[in-house]
Amino acid sequence: MNTKTAQLMDGKALAQKIQTQLQQRIQTLQPQIGRPPGLAVLMVGDNPASAAYVRNKERDCAKVGIASFGKHFPANTSQSELEQAIQALNQDERVDGILVQLPLPDSLDAVTLLHQIDPDKDADGLHPANLGRLVRGETGLRSCTPAGVMRLLQEYQIAIEGKQAVVLGRSILVGKPQALMLLEADATVTIAHSRSQNLSAITQSADILIVAVGRPGIITAEMVKPGAVVVDVGINQVTDADGKSRLVGDVDFQSVQDVAAFLTPVPGGIGPMTRAMLLQNTVLSYSQQHQSQRIKDEG
Ligand code: NAP
Repeated sequence: MNTKTAQLMDGKALAQKIQTQLQQRIQTLQPQIGRPPGLAVLMVGDNPASAAYVRNKERDCAKVGIASFGKHFPANTSQSELEQAIQALNQDERVDGILVQLPLPDSLDAVTLLHQIDPDKDADGLHPANLGRLVRGETGLRSCTPAGVMRLLQEYQIAIEGKQAVVLGRSILVGKPQALMLLEADATVTIAHSRSQNLSAITQSADILIVAVGRPGIITAEMVKPGAVVVDVGINQVTDADGKSRLVGDVDFQSVQDVAAFLTPVPGGIGPMTRAMLLQNTVLSYSQQHQSQRIKDEG
């Protein structure tokens, strides 16, 4: 029997460390810039999960010293009203980051809205300009969830160069940018998805396995190479036999922890890292906007 237990990669602890670093950076920059960084979160409708996410983001902002410019719109808000709100925030010099909380009501076109955000204020890193910069290996605002995964791997000194990395899931939110970031870090990358054949054979080849599917327990111990690094991005709400609901990932934690060398918990893994990267992107765009203003003033 294998009694080895994977080392947990603690995203919650690292996110707190990042928050403290950002708070210090803001304290240094604010006297020079003359204002705090600002993040605007736009929410439409009354989805309770979205409302909770927005509250958490605003709480994180308050902790590190980022001003929140949240706007809550009724579910029947039109596309053009939202586009105007985004344009106004693009022009607002107090705002460094803009984020549209997804999902939006069906009547709205999320992709078109996201494209309206100034790429330099794109705190979520989802604008095509920022995804394009990632493809080209240029610096830019990076998608928060995959950036959080990379930062956590770095913290635990996981060697990436030359390793076989498998990303399960190919969404624009997680899987695709994740694969590009691993490629940028010199991994040999495979992307698997719902049409992939012989999924177990693919996942078993992974030294680093990133799972972003949205199906509880899709990865079991037999699918994992012994000694692999397994990152569970999935967040799924399940209801136990006693009627209580709880959050679980995509990885069958109980069995995989005996096979993997490193594993992220859910909750407490990539969720808090994603939130920390949102703050980091906002502070990055704050300092960059300050620099470009200074260059303009000096020029
Ligand atoms: P998504 O847009 O629904 O994409 C899911 C991906 O999984 C798709 O590429 C899909 O393949 C693939 N897939 C579905 N069933 C599969 C199967 N049976 N075998 C192999 N691949 C399969 O989801 P997402 O937005 O990427 O999110 C994925 C998960 O991560 C969700 O649980 C979400 O809640 C979570 N998430 C967490 C965070 C965080 O902060 N921790 C952030 C974002 C998302 P096809 O492309 O072929 O359909």
